[in-house]
Amino acid sequence: MADPIDPRTALVLFSGGQDSTVCLAWALARYARVETIGFDYGQRHRVELQCRGTVRGAISQAFPAWGARLGDDHVLDLGLLGQISQTALTEERAIEMQANGLPNTFVPGRNLLFLNLAAVVAYRRGASVLVGGMCETDYSGYPDCRDNTLKALQVALSLGLDAPMTVETPLMFIDKAQTWAMSEQLGGTALQDIIREHTHTCYLGDRRQRHEWGYGCGTCPACELRQQGFARYRAAAA
Ligand code: ZN
Repeated sequence: MADPIDPRTALVLFSGGQDSTVCLAWALARYARVETIGFDYGQRHRVELQCRGTVRGAISQAFPAWGARLGDDHVLDLGLLGQISQTALTEERAIEMQANGLPNTFVPGRNLLFLNLAAVVAYRRGASVLVGGMCETDYSGYPDCRDNTLKALQVALSLGLDAPMTVETPLMFIDKAQTWAMSEQLGGTALQDIIREHTHTCYLGDRRQRHEWGYGCGTCPACELRQQGFARYRAAAA
């Protein structure tokens, strides 16, 4: 028997990448209505933004019941992020590991900003659930992706808006291999084909090379993570 549908409206932080696409499917399987929000901050991998509409369309087509629950998409212009951060994501600098163990694609507190802005939009749209793909497993160095950070933020948002705002992070304690397994449970090969064909993760925005895990340069940290996760998922399934 299918789980009963949660009557709340959820707003999914949806970048067009693999993780947020799995989060979108996770939300569509649960909530009566689901909207999406994306952030344009001059990221070098802008192709990711272009993937968003394609992924939404492909999901609606492949899963009509989900398509019926999928509502509006919102894109916020966050050009100001380039003004307040100097990183490889927003500037022409090589991606490298810093002394503190974080890749310099790290924008301090970026997810705090995203969630605060998403909460304002959610409030306006009558949504009371925020869904994000933050996780502690792969880059545990991102302090604004940690479970306690997000739990504290959930309390702050709910108090500050004087309205319940639940922050859901379905990927928090699973790795990339388990994320592939979750996509299989949620939508089988149809969903996995959408992830492979249409989502984007590569930091360099490379969509010329098609691998069995999707498109990307194959060598940047994001591609390596995606590649290794898929290999472990395959090995576990074999
Ligand atoms: Zn790459």
